[in-house]
Amino acid sequence: MAKKYEGRAVGIDLGTTYSCVAVWLDEHNRVEIIHNEQGNRTTPSFVAFTNDQRLIGDAAKNQAASNPSNTVFDAKRLIGRKYSDSVIQNDILLWPFKVVAGSDDKPDIIVKYKGEEKHFCAEEISSMILTKMREIAEKFLESPVKNAVVTVPAYFNDSQRKATKDAGAVAGLNVMRIINEPTAAALAYGLQKRINNIGKRNVFIIDLGGGTFDVSLLTLKDDSFDVIATAGDTHLGGEDFDNRMLNHLVMEFKRKNKVDIGGNPRALRRLRTACERAKRTLSFDTETTIDIDAIHDGIDFNMLLSRAKFEQLNMDLFENCLAIVKSCLTDAMMDKNNVDDVVLVGGSSRILKVQQLLQDFFKGKDICSSINPDEAVAYGAAVQAALLCDGIKNVPNLVLQDVTPLSLGTSVLDDIMDVVIPKNTSFPIKRKRTFCTLEDDQSDVKIDVYEGERMVVGENNLLGLFDLEVRRAPRGHIIQVCFDIDADGILNVSAKEETSGNKKEITITNENGRLSREEIERKIKEAEYFKSEDMKFMEKVRAVNALEDYIYRMRKVMKDDSVTSKLTPVEKLEINSAIIKGENFIDDKQKYETLVFVDFLRELESTCESALRSDSE
Ligand code: AMP
Repeated sequence: MAKKYEGRAVGIDLGTTYSCVAVWLDEHNRVEIIHNEQGNRTTPSFVAFTNDQRLIGDAAKNQAASNPSNTVFDAKRLIGRKYSDSVIQNDILLWPFKVVAGSDDKPDIIVKYKGEEKHFCAEEISSMILTKMREIAEKFLESPVKNAVVTVPAYFNDSQRKATKDAGAVAGLNVMRIINEPTAAALAYGLQKRINNIGKRNVFIIDLGGGTFDVSLLTLKDDSFDVIATAGDTHLGGEDFDNRMLNHLVMEFKRKNKVDIGGNPRALRRLRTACERAKRTLSFDTETTIDIDAIHDGIDFNMLLSRAKFEQLNMDLFENCLAIVKSCLTDAMMDKNNVDDVVLVGGSSRILKVQQLLQDFFKGKDICSSINPDEAVAYGAAVQAALLCDGIKNVPNLVLQDVTPLSLGTSVLDDIMDVVIPKNTSFPIKRKRTFCTLEDDQSDVKIDVYEGERMVVGENNLLGLFDLEVRRAPRGHIIQVCFDIDADGILNVSAKEETSGNKKEITITNENGRLSREEIERKIKEAEYFKSEDMKFMEKVRAVNALEDYIYRMRKVMKDDSVTSKLTPVEKLEINSAIIKGENFIDDKQKYETLVFVDFLRELESTCESALRSDSE
């Protein structure tokens, strides 16, 4: 029986480019997608640092062009990966912010905040976005939110899942469960269809988002959602399409103007934003223009981009998507004709060429786009969150059965992968394997754990490595290794020597790249520091605004002859010089603390009010 949690819990879709939070409202018997303070139902996964504040979400994205090197996005592409990973090395060339190698080959993001250099790992940036999503929910629910279900791409590996859980911990959230994005989308779809009583159906969920492509084939029957197979690419999505456009336009600009804007981060950020907008337009128009004033050295950028050109630039990536769809069907051993519904989710699934390729492949089968592609994942996560909580009423009693995206195993015969849990196995699951010592009097056995589909372990991803001390004995001495995948899809491996009276057990817990408990605690403290700095900054903004507002009103009053004619010259002088003093404070606001503005406003009010009062007496 799954552990039940107290209180309200939310579902968070932590996306590469946008994030979304939702909650099950038992009083209304439905899921609510929660809008942010700007009224938007999705929030950009952006965090920015300036000389005086930290910004998250829309505010961060809106100032990206003017502060490119301190505006961080794409943290999801970095999370759980190593700096030396070729994927990261390629991305670094396109990011306007700085990423360097940190300890253990972990990528370190470097920004300037309040004039000082700060280093962040991807988990911290993601935790800031998760904190923002939590605050959006808290404002809507008018109560604290502690528990959440966070979604990840189905094809995220073990390190990426663990790192996402760590990000939740740093955000002060109890991540009750990590669920796969397409599975969450299937929950949303299934709930809609359940209302229509569909019986048993094979449903193909195709999720093309900002940074990842994920597909899952599920069988929906009554209340059970069984994933049969999943496939994907954790580095294929809208950002890649934007990058292709960006590179093309930079080259075109160079050809026409003999100027390379590749080294100008501000120009690149402005062009990237324009590319994303143009891409969206091309989902319904056949052509669009990209206009940017004075992009570089006073030269304007003006270019026409057709849908055909956009498709040509990205055709190989679109075809990759189709190849992944086919491989998922092969893994599931299912013919495409047996698929009942094809459901598109993720913002990039609106691209017409992608829809057309899928339509052609599934031979005219209706491609369902009736569920909102930007919100379906958070919707499903909210349902799962409600299912895990105590006392939430009216939640449909759905049962989810997900599968592992990658095979897990150890090395044998030096470098051959011995698969213990094959990919597409339902979890939670425990699998045991028996090994023997190879030499007489062996004192320890090395156990290494890999994930991946290659036969040679060196080609797969090493998850962990440990030595188990064993009793010296003739070769053939028996060791038992247990692979245990929990409900989050996260793996624990233990090994034990089972001879008479001698049992040893080791579990991989904090393997490479993962934040330790101490690091999480330190980062929680740092997060509190940023939060209190944000609050201090907001207090100062409020104090400056209040003073500015009062001065504005007094300036108006002082222009009104019917008032000023009743003041003595000394009173007029006093008010005017106090106003000028206040304006000087505002002009130099960086120099002063909040209290200066609060105190001065009080002083100004008393000066003005006593003069105006004495006049009316
Ligand atoms: P998601 O991660 O699901 O929020 O998807 C975000 C991605 O969808 C971003 O790369 C967006 O640029 C992309 N996107 C959103 N709307 C459209 C559209 N109308 N046409 C093409 N791409 C879109």
